[in-house]
Amino acid sequence: MLPPKDLFMNIAPIPAFSDNYIWMLERDGRVAVVDPGDANPVLAVLTERGVTLDTIIITHHHFDHTGGVKTLKAATNCRVVGPDNPKIEGIDEKLVDGDVAHVLGYDFDVLEVPGHTLDHIALHCADESVLFCGDTLFVGGCGRVFEGTFPMMQDSLAKLAALPPETAVYCTHEYTLANLAFARKVEPQNEHLLAHIEACEQMRTEGLATVPSTIGQELRINPFLRWQSPAIIGQLKQEGRHTGDSPPDVFAAVRGWKDEG
Ligand SMILES: [Zn+2]
Repeated sequence: MLPPKDLFMNIAPIPAFSDNYIWMLERDGRVAVVDPGDANPVLAVLTERGVTLDTIIITHHHFDHTGGVKTLKAATNCRVVGPDNPKIEGIDEKLVDGDVAHVLGYDFDVLEVPGHTLDHIALHCADESVLFCGDTLFVGGCGRVFEGTFPMMQDSLAKLAALPPETAVYCTHEYTLANLAFARKVEPQNEHLLAHIEACEQMRTEGLATVPSTIGQELRINPFLRWQSPAIIGQLKQEGRHTGDSPPDVFAAVRGWKDEG
């Protein structure tokens, strides 16, 4: 007989540095962590909860996502899954688009989402409606395009936008309030956005994480996914930033605007 299916994935944030979240997925006394840039807060939680580190998931090579891998692996002998990038030390299982990563008995579809970096991947568990997307999609924002091109990033975000609306979006940074302040400049009349700003300000006052969001929510508020919004296109025209109505054009204009500020 199959074991009963969990009602929900048990996922909690381990705060690191000034605004990173290391997401911890726990099941039956074992845990997986996503993008442990620092080993110390993870080791502290393992001891505190009396759980064993089974797997580290890496989304991309940036040091604030990978800095704790060596120490954690040495301390726990866990396995590490992540992008096929020789720059990242310690990856045991290299993941490419279309792979399925098995983590604590859950199946995660691997999506390549280049743009922020060229090696960036996201992991989507369709059974549990959970997405770990690193620095690609944020609440109300997206990662800076450091290594790829704007059209490449737009294409990657479109892949994430096409996931079911109930998908929970676990990104790595608490950048929400700054992102939403910019989103408001781009789409000042968006009522969903204005309501979400109020809700997130309250959450931050109470010291709560504004992550996760959902794909459905991001489609309503995130200017980096709303490339078909007539209001955004109108605002770009008003600002003298409009170069065309195609999704890559609109994305590039919005991203370029944010990069200036
Ligand atoms: Zn990054």
